[in-house]
Amino acid sequence: MSESSRRIRMRAAGLLAGGSLLATAACGAGAADSVQGEPQVVAAFYPLQWLTEQVGGADVKVTGLTAPGVEPHDLELAPQQVATLGDAALTVYIKGVQPAVDDAVEQTAPDKGFDAATAVKTLAAGHEGHEGHEEDGHEHDASYDTHLWLDPARFATVATALGDRLAAADPGHAQAYKDRAATTAASLNALDQEMAKGLSTCTTKTLVTGHQAFGYLADRYGLKQIGITFDPDAEPSPARIAEVAKVAKAEKVTTIFTEALVSPKVAEVLATEVGAKTAVLDPLESKPADGDYLAAMRANLVTLRTALGCSS
Ligand SMILES: [Zn+2]
Repeated sequence: MSESSRRIRMRAAGLLAGGSLLATAACGAGAADSVQGEPQVVAAFYPLQWLTEQVGGADVKVTGLTAPGVEPHDLELAPQQVATLGDAALTVYIKGVQPAVDDAVEQTAPDKGFDAATAVKTLAAGHEGHEGHEEDGHEHDASYDTHLWLDPARFATVATALGDRLAAADPGHAQAYKDRAATTAASLNALDQEMAKGLSTCTTKTLVTGHQAFGYLADRYGLKQIGITFDPDAEPSPARIAEVAKVAKAEKVTTIFTEALVSPKVAEVLATEVGAKTAVLDPLESKPADGDYLAAMRANLVTLRTALGCSS
């Protein structure tokens, strides 16, 4: 490869990917035979980026597609980001969360995509008992609930599968990937145990949320989620708000949950009607303001324990 083509390649890819891409992509070699620089791994949005960093460690270079503070469902990809996907050793995503990413994986490198949803048993969309999906614009073409990262036990399974996948993509570091995957899975399983214990004895088991993201968490810990809407951007109808208010009163709900990236207006209206407070529960679709995935999940646990009146 000539220096000039190397430079051109660098300018084309360097915007997002940085120099390490050169070794794996520009010379036409597979990531596995990379002799200089680490394989480039693209992670579609925050929890997957965190997981990929934990499992990949210093052996990979992780590029996140979704900037902090951006609702991942709304993501659109610039052409150079699509090119980054094509050149990466692996793209870690969840099919159905971001149509732009699904399309880019399919178009550029279907064999180099790791769909985390394929590693676990998924739940049906609307599993939480929410009826009336007319306004649903959130789950896109997914026939299942995509928010699987909010169940630490499932996410531990994803960590193990990701370790195996990285080991296959970069056999030279296979054992390191598997070791870090085991450590990460152990941290996630410890979190799962804490949450199971912390949520075992509560006054109410009903979780009223703005955006219906907590189905996996509810399912894992025996809670019942009532989502006001699937779509973070949609205005629920007055009839829907009245319906949820009625259930919330009957279930003695004290707290309506909101989230950082979505306007709390609807939750506040509902809280006033029910005589409840509001509190922020982080669906972790974007990087938390403080700490990482584990810290934000532990903060969610504290919030849940207060709101649901848990005692153990
Ligand atoms: Zn979501």
